[in-house]
Amino acid sequence: MELIIRNLSKSYANGVQALTDVSLTIPQGMYGLLGPNGAGKSTLMRTIATLQEADSGTIRLGEIDVLTQKEEVRRTLGYLPQEFGVYPKVGAEELLDHFAVLKGITHRAERKETVQALLQQTNLYEVRKKKLGGFSGGMRQRFGIAVALLGNPRLIIVDEPTAGLDPAERVRFLNLLSELGENSVVILSTHIVEDVSELCSRMAIIDRGEILLEGEPLAAIEKMRGKVWKKIVDRSEVAAEEAAHHVISTRMLAGRTMIHVHHDARPDESFQPVDPSLEDVYFAAMGRHISGEGETPEAAVLA
Ligand code: ADP
Ligand code: MG
Repeated sequence: MELIIRNLSKSYANGVQALTDVSLTIPQGMYGLLGPNGAGKSTLMRTIATLQEADSGTIRLGEIDVLTQKEEVRRTLGYLPQEFGVYPKVGAEELLDHFAVLKGITHRAERKETVQALLQQTNLYEVRKKKLGGFSGGMRQRFGIAVALLGNPRLIIVDEPTAGLDPAERVRFLNLLSELGENSVVILSTHIVEDVSELCSRMAIIDRGEILLEGEPLAAIEKMRGKVWKKIVDRSEVAAEEAAHHVISTRMLAGRTMIHVHHDARPDESFQPVDPSLEDVYFAAMGRHISGEGETPEAAVLA
């Protein structure tokens, strides 16, 4: 089963064009949707989750026409929104049981079994009686995943689940997600490059409603090999470097500034080669977009 999005556009009543002609083919497994705040990630996810209408375009999930057969989608969808409220005074097990009833798991013994299994899977079994108001951010997100997994969804959408988690919680959460992959379409949106590089076999980069690049992270990184160069400069020199070269990132390093430039050949002796990372891919794609340079999304698609 694949999720196939074609020419999807969406504007809001206030005139914001949140998605422009988005086309993506999302196979089973973990798919990363990477982009900065305001890129359109949540808009795309809410549209796939049948929570809002598109202006134009199509979405198919296997045989299902997502934009018209909403009930069919909802039956097989697990959606973890970017922000969700929990009832602070209710225990995790009790609330999960309640959501299971809403999901249609009405048979008591079956429901109990499902709820226990999900609490185990999300590592919340020990705290199942604890009130959700006392949960940490990571525990809340894991609870959100438990809710999303009710009913064995084949389409799982998680919107920026790692934002706000501390490093240990983030790793635990990504490990949990990585177990879901294989038999479902799992779409993870994030503004954190490492979420995608650690977890996703395919990805898209989105900015201001447009897909800048779609493909495999490893292939995208390989495409950059031999074309990324680094140099450590003083902060005062950064502007001159940016004027002279295609600087894709600058970062502070022990009080100085490390710049990465994207160039087919070594710009000069002062630059050292870099083993490219997904961050270089991301910043290069974003840089082209901001400067409005050449490469069309079609040209950036990787096999
Ligand atoms: P992301 O999830 O990548 O941060 P969003 O999909 O939330 O991006 O937002 C994309 C753009 O659409 C932003 O400019 C945002 O301000 C705008 N937007 C999002 N939701 C609404 C809404 N309900 N009404 C008007 N504008 C919105
Ligand atoms: Mg969002």
